[in-house]
Amino acid sequence: MSRKPIIAANWKMNIGPAEGTQFIESFKNLIKGKDVACDVVIIPPFTTIPSVQNALGGCSCIAAGAQNVSQYDNGAYTGEISTSMLNELNLKYVVLGHSERRQYFGETDAIINSKIKKAIAAGITPIFCIGETKDERLGGILEPVLEIQLKGGLKDLTPEEVSNLVIAYEPVWAIGTGLTATSKEAQEAHSFIRKVISDVFGADAAAKVRIQYGGSVKPENVEELMAQPDIDGALVGGASLKPESFAALVTSA
Ligand code: PGA
Repeated sequence: MSRKPIIAANWKMNIGPAEGTQFIESFKNLIKGKDVACDVVIIPPFTTIPSVQNALGGCSCIAAGAQNVSQYDNGAYTGEISTSMLNELNLKYVVLGHSERRQYFGETDAIINSKIKKAIAAGITPIFCIGETKDERLGGILEPVLEIQLKGGLKDLTPEEVSNLVIAYEPVWAIGTGLTATSKEAQEAHSFIRKVISDVFGADAAAKVRIQYGGSVKPENVEELMAQPDIDGALVGGASLKPESFAALVTSA
């Protein structure tokens, strides 16, 4: 089963509209004529999305995504953004379940599950993030933690819906810390995730679902990580904030 790799830039709460335009212009120049063998996604803050899309212009090889979406439909939900609003912008991807949303904004597996269902119903592909803390890994409960997050987040989905998802394995201790999981640690976690998907949704869904690694991915470590059989791309924070390093990532992967 060949899965097309996917590399996504998670800008988090960085890069406003003006800087977003400049980023895309330099990024397009940096990758011009180079071999890009993966799907490339830029995930800016909401208010930067239109300027990123304008700067992308007709460049259909780079998609834009959102960092969050509401589990509710349009209505009296101050501060929320709905899937229909993301659809108006033609966004293809939405990041859900990121550890920062779990940690700082109280998102539970049940909330994440509602958001995933909402995104799928709207035709938007979730990039569903899971991962353990350092204490959980050291305490020997890596696998149960991943299994609970997977089963909770993907509750009631069909095998076909799961096949079309992107899952991002992001060990919390590796996010923004400069500590990357070794390629062996990452491969073991990815292989376990694929096994849980196979047990719950069947071998076909497990073979098709793309699983990205995230957590201090940079141009120096991306090749080794992506050479692992169960790693299908990367979700990149810090190293996606400069056009030069993100271009190096997408061209070396
Ligand atoms: P990082 O962030 O690359 O800065 O570690 C990854 C993420 O949180 O998606």
